[in-house]
Amino acid sequence: MMTLNLVPFVSVHNMMKLVLHLGIERVMVDLAAEIEADFRRWPLFDKTPRVASHSDVGVIELMPTSDGETYGFKYVNGHPSNMKQGLQTVTAFGLLADVATGYPVLLSEMTILTALRTAATSAMASNWLAPKGASTMALIGNGAQSEFQALAFKAICGLTEVRLYDIDPAATAKCARNLAGRGLTVVSCKTAEDAMLGAQIITTVTADKQYATILTDNMVGAGVHLNAVGGDCPGKTELHRDILLRATIFVEYPEQTRVEGELQQLPPDHPVTELWQVITGAMPGRVSADQVTLFDSVGFAIEDFSALRYVRGKLAGTGLYDNLDMIADPDDPRDLFGMVLRAK
Ligand code: NAD
Repeated sequence: MMTLNLVPFVSVHNMMKLVLHLGIERVMVDLAAEIEADFRRWPLFDKTPRVASHSDVGVIELMPTSDGETYGFKYVNGHPSNMKQGLQTVTAFGLLADVATGYPVLLSEMTILTALRTAATSAMASNWLAPKGASTMALIGNGAQSEFQALAFKAICGLTEVRLYDIDPAATAKCARNLAGRGLTVVSCKTAEDAMLGAQIITTVTADKQYATILTDNMVGAGVHLNAVGGDCPGKTELHRDILLRATIFVEYPEQTRVEGELQQLPPDHPVTELWQVITGAMPGRVSADQVTLFDSVGFAIEDFSALRYVRGKLAGTGLYDNLDMIADPDDPRDLFGMVLRAK
C-alpha cells in the first residue's frame, strides 16, 4: 500500500520522448483505435458537458468522465489571444484515478496529448464519414494543431495531399516546413478557396474568439466532408450557418456540442447524429456521394480518457515518467496529523 502515494507523472519532456520512441503516426493510429473502442462502449461512461469558466479572452475547462473502473479528467484552456504574447492557445494536463480507491494512478501533460487525440478523433470520424477514396484535404488554420491533423489523416485515412491556408503566411510556412519529407504532397495556398481546390475533406482549425466565417456556403461543394475543429466554445465558430443547414451533422456529445460547437448557431432541436452511434451501426454515416457531412468537433472527455489510458499502458519499461509524492498516505490511515508531526 505504501507505494500508492507515488503517482507516475509524464512531463512534457517525457511525452515528447515517448511519442518519438513509439512514432508519431503509430501513436495516431493507436489513439484512434483506443478512442473508437471507447466510443463503442459509450453508454457505460459517466458523461457530463465540460465545466467551463469563461472570460473575455478565453476559457478554462474541466473535462471529467469515468467508465466505472477508472476516472479521468483534463484541465484545458483556450485563449486565442495567447499566441500574440508567445503563449500557446491551448494547454492541458490530465489525471487518471482508480475508482475503487479514488487514488490517482497517472498525472500527465496533455498539451501535446490533446493535439494528438484531437487529430486522431478527426481522422477516426472521417473514416466513417468522408467520401470513399478521399485523398486531398484542405487545412485552414496552420497553428499548433495543424501538423497533427495532417499526419493523422495520412496515417489513418490514407490522405496523400494537404492544401494549407492561414491568414498568417508565416503559420503556413511553418506547417509546410514541419510536414516536408513525411510522405504527403504539401501545397501552400494564398486563399481558403485555393486550398479547397480538389479537396474531398476540409478541416478548419483556426482560433479566434468570435463568430468567424472561415467558410461560406458557396465555397463548399457537394460531397465533401467537413471537419470543424476550431469552433469549440460559446461565441466561437468557423462556418457560415447556411453550410450547417445543408450538412448532415455528426457530434460527440450533443449536450456539449449544442453549447460549444458550430451547432450553437442552430435551434436547440436541430437534428444531429452522435458519432458513437455511427460506429456501433445504430445510425447511418454518409449515405450518398453528394451529401455534405460535418463533424462538429469540440473535443469530449472520453477522448482524453482513452488517450491517458493509452499513455499509461505504454510507460512500463520506458523510464519516461517520474514518481510524484502527491498523495498523503500515512501508515495508520487515521493518523494524518501524527504523520505531519513526525516529519519534523
Ligand atoms: P493556434 O493559435 O496555434 O493556431 C490557430 C491558427 O488559426 C493561427 O495560425 C491563426 O493565424 C489562424 N487563423 C485565425 N483566423 C483565421 C482565419 N480567419 N483564416 C485562416 N486562419 C486563421 O491554435 P491551435 O492550438 O492550432 O488551435 C486551433 C483551434 O482548435 C482553436 O480554436 C482551439 O480551441 C481548437 N481546438 C479544438 C479541439 C477539439 O477537440 N475540437 C482541440 C484542440 C484545439
